Amino acid sequence: MPLTRDLDQILLTHPCPHCGHGLEKTGRWFTTAAGFRCGGCGVPSRITYDIKLRLWAVNAHLAP
Ligand SMILES: [Zn+2]
Repeated sequence: MPLTRDLDQILLTHPCPHCGHGLEKTGRWFTTAAGFRCGGCGVPSRITYDIKLRLWAVNAHLAP
């Protein structure tokens, strides 16, 4: 299943696996991102393709 462009402009929230702090970025950002540094605990995490697929599945209903 590919990552559709439907969520490009939609704000998605991905919780930090270490502290649960929510990373809020657009679908477009998640499409190209490989990782992020948590704004809560400062720990860097990878954003795998599996994580993106799950984000898309959970937020598919937000697509315009
Ligand atoms: Zn964190």
